[in-house]
Formats: sequence, structure tokens, C-alpha cells
Amino acid sequence: MKTRKRVLVTGGAGFLGSHLCERLLSADNEVICLDNFYTGRKSNVIHLMDNRYFEVMRHDVCFPLYVEVDEIYNLACPASPIHYQFDPVQTTKTSVHGAINMLGLAKRLKIKILQASTSEVYGDPAVHPQPESYWGNVNTIGPRACYDEGKRCAETLFFDYHRQHGLKIKVARIFNTYGPRMMQNDGRVVSNFIVQALQNEDITVYGEGSQTRSFCYVDDLCDGLIRLMDSPDDVTGPVNLGNPGEFTILELAQKVINMIGSKSKIVFLELPADDPTQRQPDITMAKEILGWVPAVPLDEGLVKTIAYFKEALA
Ligand code: NAD
Ligand code: UDP
Ligand code: UDP
Repeated sequence: MKTRKRVLVTGGAGFLGSHLCERLLSADNEVICLDNFYTGRKSNVIHLMDNRYFEVMRHDVCFPLYVEVDEIYNLACPASPIHYQFDPVQTTKTSVHGAINMLGLAKRLKIKILQASTSEVYGDPAVHPQPESYWGNVNTIGPRACYDEGKRCAETLFFDYHRQHGLKIKVARIFNTYGPRMMQNDGRVVSNFIVQALQNEDITVYGEGSQTRSFCYVDDLCDGLIRLMDSPDDVTGPVNLGNPGEFTILELAQKVINMIGSKSKIVFLELPADDPTQRQPDITMAKEILGWVPAVPLDEGLVKTIAYFKEALA
């Protein structure tokens, strides 16, 4: 008989975390959703509250945590540029102190721990598409550095705990992910464009819209995270998780307008500092080691995300 694992998800009330909690519960795990509700919301997990195997804990990962669990997914950290730049010192603390505390917890319990790292470790990449072997191109003193360097330092801590203490680690480098429960006003491009198009407001393209991103639907991403956690102990990553379909931001704007049949016009605003010009994951490693490829094409994922925002706005 399979024994029920108790899984800790930090940042569990956020966009990705809430979907991950849902998936872990449906696979017969017990889930502790830990969050300080900085960008997370109770409404993201309210539908799980009746499940006797689900528990929400208000806690900040910057402080030590003593719980007894079997696995940790460390997702706590604001992810959208406007939120992580609002209190940049706190962003770095969350990534670095949060990683140390969660690694200390994993070390005491001798359990596996997965880090939600990011494609931002590649900065404004000079290599395209980005394989895991690329060391990246980050401006250490720019406005995005609190996030990028915090996540890079967290990766360093994960690998040092692995080498120094024999800890079982998993590092996922997550590329832009979208889907239901993104916040309406957190400034990320998919949610911005959909909300603007649904309200027939101007679509705000930054720069000329020639910069590219690759968008992964949230269900695919959760599947990748769980596969990585369940992989053999010698698989540490870092592993890229993302959808290689690459689009310019202008293409995305036009796609969203067409799909919604919106009257919105595209306006061009100033490009934020250090905005990466191109981004596309090389997912060869995820394919080979995890047998993972994203299954949801952008159009299909956008349909579901548009339906979510239509309801949320109503
Ligand atoms: P999100 O902002 O919706 O979720 C982050 C969650 O962490 C929120 O619930 C927030 O309240 C919580 N949190 C923040 N600081 C905390 C702290 N100090 N202690 C406890 N909880 C804290 O963002 P998301 O898109 O769900 O991202 C989740 C994780 O995945 C983040 O670590 C992010 O860096 C990573 N990631 C996301 C993407 C993406 O496209 N969504 C891409 C790359 C990496
Ligand atoms: N920690 C925690 N829960 C635990 C064990 C450790 O939150 O169950 C935190 C604690 O704050 C500690 C940090 O993790 O400082 C790092 O732990 P480690 O054992 O690596 O180093 P320590 O600081 O204890 O020497
Ligand atoms: N972007 C845009 N209009 C918006 C929001 C974002 O043109 O209203 C652009 C942004 O400049 C970036 C891309 O879309 O080039 C993705 O932005 P997001 O904040 O979603 O993710 P990240 O920059 O962290 O990849």
C-alpha cells in the first residue's frame, strides 16, 4: 500500500503554488501550503480547505521553520517584476534566507528539496535558445538583480548543501508560465494583455514588442516539477522547464486581441531597464531525463486563461 507523503509547498497560495498543491493532493499526498500572503491569496486555495489532507500555514520563509515533512517544494518568492521590485531587499532575503532555512529543514529531516529557480538566471541571454550549461548574462546592479541574483545565490546554496551535506536536491529553471489564477494586476504580460483586451483598453506593448518569450501552460509546468521531484536521487538539475514555442510580445498582443475579438488598440510604451531581448528554453535535458515535454500549445492555454479572467472580471 502506498503511504501518503506529507509535502511542504512554500509559496503555496501563489499562482504556481496553488496549482501544485492541487496536483499533489489529487495524487494522494498530504499538503502543507506555507505562505506569507505577500502576493499569494487565500482565494487561490479556498477550494482546497475542505480537504482533510490540506493545511495552510502563515509563515515567512526568512524565519526558521520546524515542521515534520517528507518533501519540500520551495516556491516562495514574488515572481512578477512589479512585485519583486517593490521591496527589492526583501526579495533577495526571501530567495537567500528562505533557501537557507528550507535547506536547513531538509538537512535535519534528510529529505528531498526542490527549488523553483528561473530562466532569469540567464539574464539577457547571449546564447539562444538557452541550455542549462549557459552561465547567463545578468546585470548585478540593475533593477532585476534582486530577483535574478537572489535566485542565482539560492542555486549556489542548493548545490553547496548537496556537495557539503549530501542533501538530495532538485533545481528547476522555470520559464514564463501562465494560466488561471495569475493576478489581474501583477503586471505580467499574459495577464495584462488579456485583462486589457477583455476591457477594450489599450494593449501596452513595451518597446517595439520585438522581444521574445516562450510561454508554458501551468498544468504542463506542474507536471514537470513533480516529475523532477520524483526522479532518481542522482538527478539534481538544474533542468529547464518551459515551452519552447517562442513569440514576440507584439505577436502575443495580436493573438490575444484576435482570440477575444477585442476593440483594443496596441500602444507602445517605454521598454523597462534590462528587459531580456529573447528567451527560449532548450528542453533537451527535461525530455531525456524526465520524459517531459509540454502538451498544451499557446492557443489552447490562452483559451483557458481568457475564460478564467472573463469570470474573474465579471
Ligand atoms: P506568485 O507571486 O503568484 O507566488 C509566490 C508566492 O510566494 C506567493 O503566494 C507569495 O505570497 C509567497 N511568498 C513570497 N515571499 C514569501 C516569503 N518570504 N515567505 C513565504 N511566502 C512568500 O508567483 P508564481 O508565478 O506562482 O511563482 C512561484 C515561484 O516560481 C517563484 O519562486 C518564482 O520565482 C518561480 N517562477 C515563476 C515563473 C512564472 O512564470 N510564473 C517563472 C520562473 C520562476
Ligand atoms: N532551520 C530550520 N528548520 C530546521 C533546521 C534548520 O528552519 O528544522 C534553519 C535554521 O534557521 C538554520 C538554517 O536552517 O540556521 C540552516 O541550517 P543548517 O543546519 O544548515 O545550519 P545552522 O545555521 O543550523 O548551522
Ligand atoms: N510586457 C509588455 N507589456 C506589458 C507587460 C509586459 O510588453 O503590459 C513585456 C515585458 O517588457 C517583457 C515581456 O512582456 O518583455 C514579459 O514580461 P513579464 O513581466 O510577463 O515577464 P518577464 O519579463 O519576467 O519575462
